[in-house]
Amino acid sequence: MASIAFIGLGNMGGPMTANLVKAGHKVVAFDLVAASRDQAKADGATIAESSVAAVKGADTVITMLPAGKHVLSVWNDVVPSMTKGALIIDCSTIDVESAKAAHVLAAKHGMASVDAPVSGGTGGARGATLTFMCGGDDKAFAAAKPVLEKMGKRIVHCGGGGAGQAAKICNNMILAVSMIAVGEAFALAEKLGLSHQALFDVVSTSSGQCWALTSYCPVPGPVPTSPANNGYKPGFAAALMVKDLTLAQDAAKSTGAATPLGKHAQEIYKAFDASGNGGVDFSGVIQHIRELAGK
Ligand code: NAD
Repeated sequence: MASIAFIGLGNMGGPMTANLVKAGHKVVAFDLVAASRDQAKADGATIAESSVAAVKGADTVITMLPAGKHVLSVWNDVVPSMTKGALIIDCSTIDVESAKAAHVLAAKHGMASVDAPVSGGTGGARGATLTFMCGGDDKAFAAAKPVLEKMGKRIVHCGGGGAGQAAKICNNMILAVSMIAVGEAFALAEKLGLSHQALFDVVSTSSGQCWALTSYCPVPGPVPTSPANNGYKPGFAAALMVKDLTLAQDAAKSTGAATPLGKHAQEIYKAFDASGNGGVDFSGVIQHIRELAGK
């Protein structure tokens, strides 16, 4: 079994660490927040005094942190202290530029590296059903795969360094745009006197069918497990969607890609977030769409 260091024990990293312990790995963990360290300890991880102490002797290091600046800061601290030839995987959602810089740093110190952002949210983290989108060379990916398989059920090699992050922001841009489209359709149907269930029954088997409708329906009723049935408790918070859409817009600007709907979706989610809904599930944007009526 692998000896793994896990840094960043938040909503995602905490349950991911627990799954690695359950799979029989020896996990040494660290987070800045005491409560997260205590939970990881209760889940069976050994707690280190710092990130640098956690990585000593580990053959695999995993980071799950808020943004690119945190990842680069932690990697700058820990990579020089890792065992030569060890593997470092970042599962955070970060900008492609920072992901590429992290790969360069790892290579400079003789480490294998993979960017492996996830889709599946906190439920996927708890249930070990995440999808990992991986960027890195073939050898690093082959080493990362068996570890990632203990935390997810689909592990996709997307290409070289940064390709995982590229896939992640493209996916989430589609999700954001399609959730707004589904919300608009329900808001229009309400004005037309069409029931939620009738619209769902037609669209879920017609050409408008999409994940935002059939797995994550933004109105209560048709999909009992969707956050709409639970007061729009996340799930995937609107503030995180703003973060991912901003990463997509930054990437579009730096590469010269045209993403007019991605840009509009970012503006809509930013307005939803700014009106105090950053902690609400992103599917709650339907409430914002209804409020736009008549404005
Ligand atoms: P979170 O804020 O709950 O966890 C981040 C953790 O990192 C915190 O516990 C924080 O204390 C810790 N941390 C920050 N700086 C640190 C440092 N220097 N050293 C050690 N620990 C440090 O966030 P999360 O929801 O777990 O998300 C983590 C990443 O996963 C983010 O990049 C997010 O965009 C991505 N993501 C989240 C979800 C989701 O549904 N929550 C889904 C997919 C992807």
